[in-house]
Amino acid sequence: MKGLAMKRINEIGWIEKDKPSCGPTDAIIRPLAIAPCTSDVHTVWEGAIGDRHDLILGHEAVGVVDEVGDQVKVFKKGDRVIVPAITPDWGSDAAQRGFSSQTNAPLGGWKFSNDKDGSMAEYFHVNEADFNLAYLPDEMTPEDACMMVDMWSTGFMGAENANIPLGGNVAVLGIGAVGLSAILGAKLQGAARIFAVGTRPVSVKVAKEYGATDIISYKDGDTGEQIKAATNGEGVDAVIVAGGGPDILIDAVNCARPGSVVSNINYFGAGDTLPIPRVAWGFGMADIDIHTGLCPGGRTRMEQLTALALTGRGDPGKLITHRFEGLENLEEALLLMKDKPKDLIKPVVIIDD
Ligand code: NDP
Ligand code: ZN
Repeated sequence: MKGLAMKRINEIGWIEKDKPSCGPTDAIIRPLAIAPCTSDVHTVWEGAIGDRHDLILGHEAVGVVDEVGDQVKVFKKGDRVIVPAITPDWGSDAAQRGFSSQTNAPLGGWKFSNDKDGSMAEYFHVNEADFNLAYLPDEMTPEDACMMVDMWSTGFMGAENANIPLGGNVAVLGIGAVGLSAILGAKLQGAARIFAVGTRPVSVKVAKEYGATDIISYKDGDTGEQIKAATNGEGVDAVIVAGGGPDILIDAVNCARPGSVVSNINYFGAGDTLPIPRVAWGFGMADIDIHTGLCPGGRTRMEQLTALALTGRGDPGKLITHRFEGLENLEEALLLMKDKPKDLIKPVVIIDD
């Protein structure tokens, strides 16, 4: 089969590999929709997780079951399924402690395009299929569902981890697909004012549709000062970090009031350490928590996100700005994600059934 791979840091290309084999609890999936991710960009062009050779990229996909192992009970060949970006080992110690994305090692639930081939291929492998797949409902297109497997799951987690009080104020730093999903998550968690920090007009439009009440441009001045000025000098009850470079935690803490949570979902692709502002953080004593998390996976999570979409709580398809038809266009879609033109939120590649 062919797949789009990271050949080494800074280089991608199509390669040929054997179709993956299916263990007793696994499934082999043929993709129907695949989305590239900013995380693929960090991985290839920043070398963020180290070098990889001929590793097939991609972790956001929806597809058809091509094969299941003999111990798989829930799914069968031909089922249309949503595949979470994160596919934990559900029996692991970390999963049993409630941190399923960190199974066996830090970020251990992140297997696709990290420690095994990802979904940008004719076929890909899923471990523990009964726990790591969910049915794609007939009412949902594969490309819309594809926006939930990482973007919604991660963005909503950003809001869940932020401990937002009902009626509290939230700042979301970064309004790409992840930050936009965090805005919707914050709204669903009961936030009152939601400050969206970003500049791309396409994102600003969706930010308002997803529930942002105020738009702030980090290019118009210091983000913390702008948020403080808009909140009577107080700062917000929760800050969700979904973009920006190594200094973004400075802005985040500057936006936060005592007792708040800075919920980071950003993937810091470079640098050894990240600065936190000492004085704004109360010299380390301001009751401002910095929380981190990797996208939640699992069947139940996908079923819950699907339920939100089907009950009209939000439309995942709003994140899609660019649609391609055919696996061969994956490279163009991924390069688009790298170059981030002004009219882009999220590209998706649709593959015929
Ligand atoms: P995008 O690059 O599409 O969006 C980044 C956003 O950050 C843009 O809105 C950009 O603004 C904004 N931004 C840039 N600089 C600043 C700044 N100084 N202050 C505030 N905002 C700023 O990224 P994605 O939405 O695709 O992904 C966001 C991050 O989430 C990435 O690092 C990605 O790897 C990570 N991620 C993490 C996951 C997890 O499990 N924790 C899972 C998936 C992704 P502008 O409008 O000007 O472009
Ligand atoms: Zn992703």
